[in-house]
Amino acid sequence: MYIFLNDKVVAEPEAVVSVYDHGFLYGDGIYETMRSYSGAVFMFERHRERLCRSASFIQLGLPEEGYIRNAVYDTLDANGLSDAYIRITVSRGKGPIGLDPGLCREPTFVVIAEQFREYPEQHYRQGVKLIIARTRRNLREALDPRIKSLNFLNNILARIEAKERGAYEAIMLNAEGFISEGTVSNIFFVRDNVLCTPSPDVGILDGITRELIIGLAKRNGIKVNEGKFYPDNLFRSSEVFFTNTTAEVMPASQVEDMDFDVGGITGTLRRLYREEVAEFTRKSERRR
Ligand code: PMP
Repeated sequence: MYIFLNDKVVAEPEAVVSVYDHGFLYGDGIYETMRSYSGAVFMFERHRERLCRSASFIQLGLPEEGYIRNAVYDTLDANGLSDAYIRITVSRGKGPIGLDPGLCREPTFVVIAEQFREYPEQHYRQGVKLIIARTRRNLREALDPRIKSLNFLNNILARIEAKERGAYEAIMLNAEGFISEGTVSNIFFVRDNVLCTPSPDVGILDGITRELIIGLAKRNGIKVNEGKFYPDNLFRSSEVFFTNTTAEVMPASQVEDMDFDVGGITGTLRRLYREEVAEFTRKSERRR
């Protein structure tokens, strides 16, 4: 396997980062997860913009647009991949111990690309189990969830709860008790044929898949309500699903002890999303 590290593609054993890297010492850094279909990175520009937004939140310098794009495609090429999981990580870089970002001269820039492993089709047909975690989502005023940061312990704690309780994903509430998001996903539910999802001001990462699903719903006559919801609102719904770049649209069969069917609106949105991907794949010629 080959990794893009700072300025070139290197073999995986040589892709080594210092123990003085502030990403390792303090979680001081950011990342993005993307997916390529038939050799083209889906929504690349949106992911790059979000990476830039995360970088600017933490005052971290980033390479320019063309550099990032080339790094991603060089990594895909080096590994001979077309349907891939791609992760860009940018950390503050190597520097003496101490919180001051000024101690680090150069950010560390890494691109990893791996063969995409499909999720079991059964998950999409039957749905997966979700819980509501005790661990609350970070306060926006403490660590804004819009920063896709390497500081992921909040979500990891919720994920541990999910694992302990035999669930696939955990829904996190914000400090006020409103539904925020999953540990790696955005949450949707359907009530009276209206698609409901927490609004960004609840304190979430505004997912790129979420944005696309909201747009597809609206364009196809499905009403959308972005708002503040308590778990009770979700328990009284007819369909629940979550979204992210890799799983796309994944239905829930159970949330806590409430059962849900994989419903029609979830199915429609999954189909529309797949059509969007198929259209993108048809249109895209790999640009360099
Ligand atoms: N929320 C969190 C906390 C996430 O980590 C992710 C995955 N990146 C998402 C939502 C979904 O975002 P996207 O649709 O852009 O993958």
